[in-house]
Amino acid sequence: MADKIKMTTPLVEMDGDEMTRILWQWIKDILITPYVDLKTEYYDLGLEYREKTQDKVTFDSAEATKKYGVAVKCATITPNQARMGEYNLTQMWKSPNGTIRAILDGTVFRTPILVKGVTPYIPTWTKPITIARHAYGDVYKNTEMKVAKGSKAELLVTNPDGTQTKETIYDFKDSDGIIQGLHNKSDSIRGFARACLNYGLDLKQDVWFATKDTISKKYDHTFKDIFQEVYDTEYKEKYEANGIEYFYTLIDDAVARVIRSNGGYIWACKNYDGDVMSDMVSTAYGSLAMMTSVLVSPDGIYEYEAAHGTVQRHYYKYLKGEETSTNSVATIFAWSGALRKRGELDNISELVDYANKLEKATIQTIEDGVMTGDLYLISKLENKKKVNSKEFLEAINERLSAMM
Ligand code: NAP
Ligand code: MG
Repeated sequence: MADKIKMTTPLVEMDGDEMTRILWQWIKDILITPYVDLKTEYYDLGLEYREKTQDKVTFDSAEATKKYGVAVKCATITPNQARMGEYNLTQMWKSPNGTIRAILDGTVFRTPILVKGVTPYIPTWTKPITIARHAYGDVYKNTEMKVAKGSKAELLVTNPDGTQTKETIYDFKDSDGIIQGLHNKSDSIRGFARACLNYGLDLKQDVWFATKDTISKKYDHTFKDIFQEVYDTEYKEKYEANGIEYFYTLIDDAVARVIRSNGGYIWACKNYDGDVMSDMVSTAYGSLAMMTSVLVSPDGIYEYEAAHGTVQRHYYKYLKGEETSTNSVATIFAWSGALRKRGELDNISELVDYANKLEKATIQTIEDGVMTGDLYLISKLENKKKVNSKEFLEAINERLSAMM
C-alpha cells in the first residue's frame, strides 16, 4: 500500500456519547487512520466533558469550526431530567446541535443513503431527496394567547418614526378563541436561501422551494420574493452553467410533485414544513440509521454528522458485554463527507478519492449482503447476513483496502 494520505488543514473533530462514541473510535481505527494521516483538532463533546467545562467545549468547537471551515460531529446526549442524575449534572446543558447551529447560523440538510435491497416506501424514489429546514422563527418563536368572548384582537406595530400601524385580527364578538403572533427576519430568510442555493451548487442538484404565498400574500410571499431575488442576483448564471435549476411552486403542489418524483434534488422548506416533511421523508426511505446530516452556514462552513442519536439502548448492551449490531453508515458518511470537503478546499485529490472509495466500500458491503440488524430486518436481498458492529466495519475495510 502507498503512503498515508497527508492533510494540510485540520478537521474539527467533535466526539460524542454512548454507542456512537464507541463506533467513532472504531471507525477511525479500522477505516480511517490506516489510510489517512489524520489531522484533527479534537473537541470532546461527550456529556462528562461538557459538564467538566460547563459546556465551554461546545462553544470552543463551534468557534474552531468557524476558523477551519469543516467539522465532523458524533451524536451527543441532549440532557433531560433522567440524564441529570445519570451524569451528576450541575445544569441541564442545552443541545450541542442547537448551540453550534446558533453560532454558525446554519441550515441543516438531511440526505438518505440508498442501497440496493432496501426499497423506499415510495418505490419511485430511486435518488435521495435532501431536505433543508429553515431553522428560524415562524411558529417556533411565536407569541400566543387565549382570548375571551367579547375581545377584539389587533396587530400593532410601532414604526421606527414612532407612528403606529394597526390591523384587526379578529373581533371575538360571538365566541372566545385563540390568536398567535409570528415573525421572521429578511436577513434570516436570505441566509437560508443562500445556504440552500450554495448546497445545490455543491451537489449539482436542483433546489425546490415552496410556500403558501397565494393565501399568505405578505408573509409567505416575502419568502418567495427573497428566494427569487437571491437566485436572480447571485446564482442564476452559476446554475445555468451547471445545468441545474431553482424551482418554486405552491407547497401543496410541491408535496404532490415530491411523491411523483424520482428524487435527486434539494427541497428547501419553511421551518414547520421542514419539521414535518423531514420525518415523513426519512421514514419513507427506510432507516434513520441511513440518514446523514450537514449543517451549512451562509458563508460556506460545513459540519457533518449522522441524523440519529447516540443509540442508548445498544450502549447499555455494550456496557454489559453483550454483542451489538449498530449501524455505523451515517457516521461513516459524516467522516467521508467532511474529509471530501477538506480535500476539495485544500486541493488534495487523494483525500477526495479516498472519501469516495470509503462510501463505495460501505455501500458495496451492504449490497453484498453483509449488514447490521436494523437493515437485516428490512433488506430484500436473498443472501443476507447479520453481523455485529465491529464485524461490519471490518467487512467494509476488506473492500476498501482492495480499492486503495
Ligand atoms: P436514537 O439514538 O436515534 O435511537 C433511537 C432508536 O433508533 C434506537 O434505539 C434504535 O432502535 C434505532 N437506531 C438509531 N440509530 C441507529 C443505528 N445507528 N443503528 C441501529 N439502530 C439505530 O434516538 P433516541 O434514543 O431518541 O436518543 C438517544 C440519545 O441521543 C438522547 O440522549 C438524545 O438526546 C440524543 N440525540 C442526539 C442527536 C444528535 O446528536 N444529533 C440526535 C437525536 C438524539 P432499537 O433500539 O430498536 O434497535
Ligand atoms: Mg419533526
